[in-house]
Amino acid sequence: MLIVESVGADDFADFVVLLHKRQLELSERIREHDEEARALRAARTEDVADDEHDPEGSTLSLEWARLEAIREAEAGESEAIKHALERIRSGTYGVCEGCGRMIPAGRLTVRPFAAHCVSCAS
Ligand SMILES: [Zn+2]
Repeated sequence: MLIVESVGADDFADFVVLLHKRQLELSERIREHDEEARALRAARTEDVADDEHDPEGSTLSLEWARLEAIREAEAGESEAIKHALERIRSGTYGVCEGCGRMIPAGRLTVRPFAAHCVSCAS
């Protein structure tokens, strides 16, 4: 099928639900990873106090870097969701911020916080 679906005002309700659901799941994950970061920070502090040449230290550093990357991605998605909800309020949701064309509904279903169409995002 070559039909390009675009998002009309009537479809927004579904995306608002999707966005809120994702936001809820995300805040849960952010809470968990905040906990993890706190525990890891404490473990690293102990580690340095014990022995700075402890080989465990590098494992903890790797773990820390991994966790920081996850938390950064989550913070970014959280911002994107907030931004999408603002765009729903201002009536610009579903419009690509790059080229001004409608973002296909299929893309918004997968990434309801998408602010750009596929070609502008790449
Ligand atoms: Zn675009």
